Amino acid sequence: MPLEIKTEQKSVVATCEQSREYDFSRCKLCATFAASPKYKLEKATVYACAECDFHFINHLDNLPPGPQGNVTSTLDRKAWEYIEAMLPASEKQLRKNMLLVKRYISLSGAHCLDIGAGAGLFAQLLAEAGAFVHGIEPQGIFREFAQQKFGIALKEETIDTRHWQQGFAGFFDVVTLWDVLEHVNFPAENLQNAYNVIKPGGWLFLDTPRRDTLFYRISEWSYRLGGGENSRLLESLYSPLPFRHKQIFTLRQLLKLVGEIGFSVTSMQSSFFRPHNKMVLVCRKP
Ligand SMILES: [Zn+2]
Repeated sequence: MPLEIKTEQKSVVATCEQSREYDFSRCKLCATFAASPKYKLEKATVYACAECDFHFINHLDNLPPGPQGNVTSTLDRKAWEYIEAMLPASEKQLRKNMLLVKRYISLSGAHCLDIGAGAGLFAQLLAEAGAFVHGIEPQGIFREFAQQKFGIALKEETIDTRHWQQGFAGFFDVVTLWDVLEHVNFPAENLQNAYNVIKPGGWLFLDTPRRDTLFYRISEWSYRLGGGENSRLLESLYSPLPFRHKQIFTLRQLLKLVGEIGFSVTSMQSSFFRPHNKMVLVCRKP
């Protein structure tokens, strides 16, 4: 999900039903009731799990996004120009991602699913490479853009729905999750659901920010040194606005999770020192 539309909603956090119904003391990674507030941000609280040390904020997106969850819901000229202006930056990254995918599989005739397809750019690159392309994007404005710009019909149905879990069980050669796991409500379930639709021998490619980095440590130190008053750096890592960052994995947490689901990790790239550093994982379903 490389593009984010800035929305002006102020009432979303207060009105999000899914956030109200979920007990955030239940860890979103290990599912034990061992999480408690750790960092108070301006509009959210970062919870940490005493069992597995997973960090996540007390916000969930309404899905499917209702009108109040997606204020910028019409693809007017301003929105179109905004998305267009964001494309070159994400294209640079997505072309790199494409080179990575091609290192492992020939895409010609391959069945591929891009989850969190955004404006459809990676789906378009897959199509150019000769793949059969499917994509999921919950935000209507991006689906509309992808349709008009690339002629690609992205699906609104998220990966947990019957449409995918029953209709496409064990089907895909390739599933991609570019910048998705930090955005979704339930990342562990998301990965399990992705696993379910991959065929034996098929591939999962993903990237997501890494928490055990120097930048995150500095953000935590700065919060503590300021007696909880200085949350500025942590604010840049999490947001309760729709489709923004809700959780950040450590490398160990992510590797453990994909392993428990059943993937074998073929390759991993990451570094402790770069700010906002990402982990890039190449996984295979046995
Ligand atoms: Zn936990």
